[in-house]
Amino acid sequence: MTIRALPPAVADAIAAGEVVERPASVVKELVENSLDAGATRVGVEIRGAGKTLIRIVDDGAGIPSAELRLAFQRHATSKLQNLSDLEAIGTLGFRGEALASIAAVSDLEATTSGRRLHLRAGALLEEGAAGPAPGLVIEVRDLFANTPARLRFLKSDATETAACLAAVQRYALLYPTVRFRVIVEGRTSLSTDGHDPLASVYGEAVSREMLAVDHLNVTGTVSPPKLSRGTRDAMLLAVNRRPIASRTLAFALEECYRGALERGRYPVAVLNVEISPEAVDVNVHPTKREVKFRDEGAVFAALQRAVRSAIGAGEPARPPEPAAPGPSSERLLRQLEIQEPPPAIDPQLPRPASAGGFLRPVGQVLDGYLVAESPEGMVLIDQHAAHERVLFNRFQSRLEGAPAVSQHLLMAMTVELEPALAAGVADHEAELRSLGFEVEPFGPRAVRILAGPVETPPESLEPAFREVLAGLRARSADDALASLACHSAVRFGDALDLAEQRRLLQEVESLSPDITCPHGRPVRLLLDWQQLKRHFRRNY
Ligand code: ADP
Ligand code: MG
Repeated sequence: MTIRALPPAVADAIAAGEVVERPASVVKELVENSLDAGATRVGVEIRGAGKTLIRIVDDGAGIPSAELRLAFQRHATSKLQNLSDLEAIGTLGFRGEALASIAAVSDLEATTSGRRLHLRAGALLEEGAAGPAPGLVIEVRDLFANTPARLRFLKSDATETAACLAAVQRYALLYPTVRFRVIVEGRTSLSTDGHDPLASVYGEAVSREMLAVDHLNVTGTVSPPKLSRGTRDAMLLAVNRRPIASRTLAFALEECYRGALERGRYPVAVLNVEISPEAVDVNVHPTKREVKFRDEGAVFAALQRAVRSAIGAGEPARPPEPAAPGPSSERLLRQLEIQEPPPAIDPQLPRPASAGGFLRPVGQVLDGYLVAESPEGMVLIDQHAAHERVLFNRFQSRLEGAPAVSQHLLMAMTVELEPALAAGVADHEAELRSLGFEVEPFGPRAVRILAGPVETPPESLEPAFREVLAGLRARSADDALASLACHSAVRFGDALDLAEQRRLLQEVESLSPDITCPHGRPVRLLLDWQQLKRHFRRNY
């Protein structure tokens, strides 16, 4: 093929891919621009998971009308002038790429005091006068309509919407004096207008327990060990109030909780490290999320000292509210929290995770749904679907090498099989063993099961074994795992006591909120506190 320089529209769409991966990238870049412009209010509206509309309204400095068009040219920026400025970046943006990139893959309208601009796929459609208004309004429609490949790679609407919201939440947590408001499909999902952002994002109950961190150049807040999560999603690390992804600093933080949190549990944290802009290079990654420190060891040590002194001091981030009877949900939360964990057999053992956790059992309805309370609201969980998913994931990790945990039967169980299936047992011995099955041949049309996965009740062992074997024979590990999970999970209709409910809820916490059971059925339903209060017309 002949080598040709790409037409600008194609080159721009390619370059845009680096900056604008998904709707949340647009939200992130535009919010950064608003903050760089000194906004004190930032409003974000999202429709159709950001594919239909992303609108950002701010009250910042705005763009001089004569420069509005220029702002959409690649490498046009007001934040940087010469190469040496790159050495010490004091703003969130600096490459002059975001507006051009977003405009290249969407239908975009920008309005600033006196001027309005309409671009589609990077091409100018319209430019005209506009009335006086504070700040800047950007409306992004039909995102990725001209890059179908990008569109296909997006995750579910729920996931993309959650990522958009999370992008704003990070800045809301790092810029507590800026008032943020996010409206998703017409409903307010976040408002820090007059509220503590920590409470707006994680709920009152959590924010009340958080510990203040304020030690030299590290400030923020971290959870006490009794509050923890099943993922790292609530660990927000920032440098000069720029959220960053840093395994090293995440590790530094997690280490502070070593021995206090079980494996797989993580703290909630908002931590900002202030360092001189020359001591950090933010120009190493297209989305500016990765940074390079001149002295990473020093930052690591500073972060640990700050967090350790906060956890050690155990001071709540702000004085606890008067003990007036709050909403009963919060009372219940506290009651559950002051319950002492059972005495540990070995003082070296970490405290049981039940001391923390974000899903608190309230009860069970229809002997099939668990009712739980989380900082976000009231949660209903389909006990069978949830348990199935938990077990599916666990069995999957065993197939991938995690040690099997099997239980020997008092009496070996003889299972008759069609000859073809019986012959297949030997082929799948390794997989069966990694799932916890120990079997031995018993003539040409039968096997004896000596042991099975510890999770599978004995009465289900035979059907589970048959289906697992059939799945493996059909080369579908997923089918095999789904059958095993289904036969091992608690059933709809099983009454669970509070301890069993708590155990299951702890496992469910580690699942992502929108996960389904292995057959695709939903696992949980959230009735958030807002909805609840609105329904009962309570404004507190
Ligand atoms: P960068 O942020 O890297 O400078 P962008 O493409 O994001 O690049 O923005 C280009 C320029 O447009 C900025 O340098 C700034 O001057 C202007 N701009 C963008 N968004 C805003 C805003 N919300 N308020 C005021 N000016 C803005
Ligand atoms: Mg920018």
